[in-house]
This record gives sequence, structure tokens and C-alpha cells, in this order.
Amino acid sequence: MRLRGTELLVDLRAIEHNVRALATATQTRLMAVVKGDGYGHGALPVARAALQAGAQALGVALVEEGLALRAGGVDAPILVLGQSLEKGLFEGMKAGLSLCLSNEESVQALVSAAKALRVSPKAHLKIDTGMGRIGFRSAGEAVAAYEAAAKGGVTVEAAFTHFATADMQDGAAYLRGQLARFDEALLALRRAGFSGFAHAANSAAAILYPESRYDMVRPGIALYGGQIGWAGDGIGLRPALTWKAPVVQIKRLKKGESLSYGRRYIAPEERLIATLPVGYADGYRRSMFGRAEVLLKGRRAPVLGTICMDQIMADVSAIPGVKLGDEAALLGAQGEERITGAQMARWAGETIDYEIFCGISARVPRVYE
Ligand SMILES: *Cc1c(COP(=O)(O)O)cnc(C)c1O
Repeated sequence: MRLRGTELLVDLRAIEHNVRALATATQTRLMAVVKGDGYGHGALPVARAALQAGAQALGVALVEEGLALRAGGVDAPILVLGQSLEKGLFEGMKAGLSLCLSNEESVQALVSAAKALRVSPKAHLKIDTGMGRIGFRSAGEAVAAYEAAAKGGVTVEAAFTHFATADMQDGAAYLRGQLARFDEALLALRRAGFSGFAHAANSAAAILYPESRYDMVRPGIALYGGQIGWAGDGIGLRPALTWKAPVVQIKRLKKGESLSYGRRYIAPEERLIATLPVGYADGYRRSMFGRAEVLLKGRRAPVLGTICMDQIMADVSAIPGVKLGDEAALLGAQGEERITGAQMARWAGETIDYEIFCGISARVPRVYE
């Protein structure tokens, strides 16, 4: 039920537009990354929109996420980007997911599962070229894994890596070092008979570094119109989210009266205050105190006082005519104004728009348009 009126509108046309813009800009096949419930946008609707717009594959972090897409009727290729343990590899294989192999143990587990079920599981070999997270750390290890997997009946569809600095202004030199190590591993794999494809680029790399595109790019944040690196995307990506909440109370605060827990705001003069039913239980971060704004009637209204679990207060003294039921935009556009995920991340401090999007909790209904 959607009684509260606090909702997350997801513009699937924007997702489709972004997929097409990325395909045009990169001229490469595209794996739409929909992990973390589609960066909070809803994995299944985003996956369908991305495939509709021409994405060839989907990327998820967990086997569970892949299984949920399969249960939703998605039969496109799905890669599990994270390393799964034996149980996950087994279930993922049964659902026809492509599985990440980044160590010897996972290769052995998948080979045994293949024998037990007499099917050929699909896998992508992960090469750690400098992210330091998962993956084979040398060309030699990758070749040994490839040979063991291929001999054991695993279909090694691809080899891939992931960049640590693609979105950083001074990240080019490190990224180029990663590319060189990836090329070295690919060459060794080819010599050992590997005939699959290669992929490496997240959103920032796909847009900013043509040499990182290989046979497929793996954009996540770009699909959602988030911030790409330091330079802007340059290809007209559109943000997909509007987070809105209605005004449920309006009152005059007299000079010297306070708002919210801890009395951290005291009115220096009379103020008109609107209360909105949204708070940190929805992912509206408490650390945005003193910086957050919402949009009402297309204008910016500062959020005053401590952000509560379920409610916030906005100063509408300068915005005439605000009444009960009026919709505030917490994120997204209203009139000429827009609050981006990146701006909200700066208000929250020490975070990025990715975390803001993923952090909008399940209590906020997603509405697709
Ligand atoms: C999350 C992720 C991506 C997508 O990254 P963005 O920066 O959101 O484009 C691509 N590849 C891997 C391995 C990932 O974990």
C-alpha cells in the first residue's frame, strides 16, 4: 500500500535512454549491472528495461540476485560478478548463471558440480590486475585455472578484470598498468587455447577510456544516470530517480523555539516549517544534518533540525503558498531545480551517490513510470 505518499519514482525511460547512449558512445556490447537491487532502483524492472534497450547481458553480485532475475522470467545471460562458495556455485549453475572463478578452490568446486549434474557450467575467469579484491593474481595462475576448468567440463566464456581508479582524476596511470597486466593474462590464456571474450570496463572506464572496452562493457552507475568520475559523462545520461514525500504538517515556529531531537535548531526569528514523513529508516541519512535541502514548488527549502527516523522538517518561510499534501522532492527534479545523488552524497559526507541510491530502504515503495 502507498498510503504515506513517500515514494521513489523510477523513470525506466531514462534507464533505456542511458543504455542506448552508452551503446552509441562505446560501440561495444553491454552488460547492465543490476546488483544491489539495481542500485536501489529495482533489479527486475531495470533489467527488463536495459534488455529492451539493447543490453546483451546482466551483471549481479550474488547468486541470489541472479536467481531472483531468473524467477522473474529473465533468460538473458547473467554473470555473478562476486566470488561464490560451493553452495552458490551449485545453485547458480543449475539456474544457468555464468559464475565468477577467481581461485583454484572455486574451479575445483565447479568441476565437481559439473560432474555430479552432468552439465557444462558457464564461467568467467576473474583476473586481479590491481583491484586487490578477487581474482587470479598472475597470468600463470589464470592459465592453470583455465586449463583445469576446461578439462573439467566448464565452459569458460570470458576473462575479466575490474579497475580501481577509473573514476579518479589522477587514475589514468594506474588504470593503464591494470590494462597491461590484463593484456598479458589474456595473451597467455589465448596461447593456452582460451577462445572466450574479454571485459573490464565499469561506467567510468567505458566512457573515459576507449582502450578498456574490449568485447563488452559493464556499466552500473551510468545506467542510473549517476555521476561519472570527475568530468561529467559528456553523453547526456539522465538520472532515473525522483524521491518524493508530501507535506503532512505546517506550523509557525516562534523566535527562540526549537526543532527536533537535541534542540540543534533554534529559530533566530519566526519561521514557517513543513514536516515531511521520511527519515533515516528510509535511507534519508541522518548525517545530512545542517546541509540537506528539499524542493518544494520548484524551490530549495533547507532541512532544519536533527533528521529523525521517520520525519524531517523543512523551512518553507521563503516559499509562499505551501499547503498540506504538497509534494517535496528529496532527490531528482522539480521545476527548474534538481537534487542529484552526488549532491546528497556530499551532504551526507564521506560517501558517493551509489551508496545513497542503494541505501534508500525497502520501506520506500518503488513506482515505475
Ligand atoms: C559494480 C561493478 C561494476 C559496475 O560499476 P559502476 O562503477 O557502477 O559502473 C562493474 N564491474 C564489477 C565487477 C562491479 O563490481
